[in-house]
Amino acid sequence: MDDTKLDEKQLLLDNKKLAREVKRLTLDISLLRVANEQAVNTQAYIQRETERQMFYIEQLMRTSPNLFILTDEKMRTVVASDLYFTYTDAYDQNAIRRGIPLGDALLGVFPDAELEAFLENCRAVLAGERVKPYALRGVRTGQRWRVTIRRMSRDEEVVGLNILFSDTTEFMDALERAKAADKAKSNFLAKMSHEIRTPINAILGLNEVILRESREPDTVAYAADIQNAGKTLLSLINDILDFSKVEEGKMEILPTQYELGSVVNDLVNMTRTRAEERGLEFYAFVDETTPHLLFGDEIRIRQCALNLLSNAVKYTKKGSVTLTVGYDEVDADNILLKISVADTGIGIKPENMERLTSPFARLEEAKTRTIEGTGLGLAITHQLLGLMGSSLRVESIYGEGSEFSFAIKQTVVKWWPVGEISRYRSEGKDSAARREAF
Ligand code: ADP
Repeated sequence: MDDTKLDEKQLLLDNKKLAREVKRLTLDISLLRVANEQAVNTQAYIQRETERQMFYIEQLMRTSPNLFILTDEKMRTVVASDLYFTYTDAYDQNAIRRGIPLGDALLGVFPDAELEAFLENCRAVLAGERVKPYALRGVRTGQRWRVTIRRMSRDEEVVGLNILFSDTTEFMDALERAKAADKAKSNFLAKMSHEIRTPINAILGLNEVILRESREPDTVAYAADIQNAGKTLLSLINDILDFSKVEEGKMEILPTQYELGSVVNDLVNMTRTRAEERGLEFYAFVDETTPHLLFGDEIRIRQCALNLLSNAVKYTKKGSVTLTVGYDEVDADNILLKISVADTGIGIKPENMERLTSPFARLEEAKTRTIEGTGLGLAITHQLLGLMGSSLRVESIYGEGSEFSFAIKQTVVKWWPVGEISRYRSEGKDSAARREAF
């Protein structure tokens, strides 16, 4: 074979090789093109999706009734809701997105003194501490905010802060107005009650003269009615006065030295007639070993016990009312004086227990409408006991009766026992049995 032939063959071979190579490259190119197209499509999709998300986020920021700011982990702003820009015109959204140190971004938005403490709180939250939401006032508009600072994490990594300023201005203003109105009402009630008490006392005083001196049976009967109504009115006015005093924090507990026996005797004397008038048995049981000379606010203890006793009589149609007085020794100088009043009256439904000590709350009005009352007695008792470091316990079975009790720490002046003086029972057919049972 001559050389030319050989070259020709070689060329043909090379040519074929080249053709194969071109084919392969063409295939690669088209594969690349497809891949490229896919990448472009994916990128466009991501872009569209990002824009869509941004649109929603922007809507949220534009319309959010709250001011919020997100920062990165170095406390530089990332984004702020549009409301932010109504409190400062130092920056626009672009600047905020580029990242402004939080302290600069909030300069002049609230008082400088508070800003420092706020930044301190932000640093604490970033470091993993918990800061409870707290109140902050805006400088420009006097806005009252409640600030909540939260740490944002992503895949276990701290990425910044989410700071929310909820506007509580309206709520706080309304609350203050309501408090002021409530105070004005209490003041008014207290003033009026005080003013009314004076003429009532005069009426009652003069009425007593009529009761003493009149020989006319009709006149005496009318005067007795006046006396009853007058006393009811007076106790009502006193309740209102006491209640507003406690409400305003003006009620003081004044401890003095007192004879327990005389308190119990007063309670018995004041309750006995009322109970008997209603045909009820009345029992009083006093632990005879209770120390007789104590130190505490005798007047308020008497008032609390009397409220419970008069309720027991009022809300019991038949059966009995029982006063029990006892004690637990606390230490060498103190006892826990325990007073309980039990009745066999209408009882209280479990769902009404909570409302029992709310002011002006009367339960089951349909049943108790004819019974005189304001719904203040237990509210006052509850508050007085609170002031004396005690609380009211109530146990009741609806339709069967109730037991109200409290225990008050009292200092013992003399440990001599109170003795038998206060064991009392009303005359009734089953009283002896009850006494024995006790
Ligand atoms: P009121 O002046 O109406 O007696 P209180 O504050 O003393 O006011 O009592 C509130 C309400 O609790 C009463 O209206 C009554 O419905 C209920 N209540 C109080 N004591 C008793 C009791 N011993 N038995 C049943 N219900 C009672």
